Amino acid sequence: MQTSIPVLLYHHINYDDDVLSIPPELFEEQLKFLKAEGYESITKEQLGEYLQNGKKSWKDKAILITFDDGYLDTWVYAYPLLKKYGFKAMAFIVTWTIEEDEYCGFNLEDYWNGKIKKENIPNCSSTYSIDNGYKIKTVRRLCWEEVREMERSGIIDMQPHSKTHRKIYASDKIIDFNHPKDKLSAWTMVKGDERFGTPDFERKPELAGREFTADEELRNRLYQHVMDNGFISFFKKTNWKNELFKIVDEYKKEKGTDKIGEFESEEEQRRRIKAELEVAKGEVGYEVRKRCTAFSWPWGAYIPLSLEIAKEVGFQYLFTTKPGSNSPGDSPFEIKRFGVWKKDLDWFKSRVRLYSKKLLSKAYGAVYRKI
Ligand SMILES: [Zn+2]
Repeated sequence: MQTSIPVLLYHHINYDDDVLSIPPELFEEQLKFLKAEGYESITKEQLGEYLQNGKKSWKDKAILITFDDGYLDTWVYAYPLLKKYGFKAMAFIVTWTIEEDEYCGFNLEDYWNGKIKKENIPNCSSTYSIDNGYKIKTVRRLCWEEVREMERSGIIDMQPHSKTHRKIYASDKIIDFNHPKDKLSAWTMVKGDERFGTPDFERKPELAGREFTADEELRNRLYQHVMDNGFISFFKKTNWKNELFKIVDEYKKEKGTDKIGEFESEEEQRRRIKAELEVAKGEVGYEVRKRCTAFSWPWGAYIPLSLEIAKEVGFQYLFTTKPGSNSPGDSPFEIKRFGVWKKDLDWFKSRVRLYSKKLLSKAYGAVYRKI
C-alpha cells in the first residue's frame, strides 16, 4: 500500500546537455511507467487533504507532478505529453522572465496533428552569448498566453515561483569584485550592484537572508577606477584585485572605520520579502484570473521569517526541494519534492517506489540532508 505521495520536481523537458534537462522521449517513458503502475496525478488540494486527515480521493496510487521556473519547454513538450497520458501537473513560474508574445507558439501537439513539420517545433535549447564581458545563458521562457492556455485546459495549475528568482549580498566580507566571468546565468543575478569593480559578497537566495548594501560612495569609487583604467581590459592586469583592495583600504582609513556598508533592518527585510511574495502571487493571479495559494521557494531556500510571511500573504501549500515523505500528519507548508534527474528509467522507477513508502522516504530524506 502507498503510504507517501511522491511529488516530482522537473525543470526542463528538452535536449540540453545537463542533468536537469529530461529529453521528451525519456519523459514519455516515465509517464508510461506511471500509467502502467496505476499512478494517478493529483492536485495540491487532494494532497493537502491527504496530509491533513489521511483522506485519499483517488483509486490506487497517487503522484503530484511539478515544474519549476516556467520554461518554454513546459508548453512545447511537457504539456502535450501530460495531456496524451491523462496526467495533471503544477507549474511554478518566475513572473519577470515571462516573454512578451501575445499568442501561443507551436508545440508537440501541432506536430502530431500534422500542422507543422518536426523542424518547426520551437527550439527550447539554451543559448549562450557574451555581453560586456559577461557570458550570458539565455533560456527560452513561456509567454502569458501559453501560461493562460495551460491553466484554462485544467491540466496545469499555474502558481508563482517568485518574481525575480535572484540572490542578495548577505555578508559584509568582500570575497571578490565583480568582473567578467565565464560562468554566469540569469540565476546568479544579484539584487545589488553588479557593476564591474564593485565588491562581491557571499550571496544568498533573496527569500533566505538579510541583505547587505555596500556604501554607494565606495562602489562608485571602485567602478570609476575600472572605468578610468580600460574598463574590461583593466581585468587583464595581474594585480587588478590588489588595486581594488587598496581603494577599499583607503576608503576605510578616510572614514576611520572598517564598516563599508549596512545590513537591512529586520523590518526592512520583512517588507522586502513580503513585497516579493505578494507581487509574485498577484501577478500570476491577475494573468490567469484566480487566487494563487501555492508557492515554490527559489532554490528551495527559506528561513522561519519567510515561512511566516508566506502564510500571512495567503499561501496554503509551500513546495520545497527537500526529499522526504508526504504522509498524513506532514505539513502542507513543507511539501517534499524529489528532483527528477536525467538518469535511466530504472532510476526513476526506484525513486517513485521509494517515495511512495513513508518510512523509506523519511529515512532517505534524513540521509540526504546530511550530505
Ligand atoms: Zn527555480
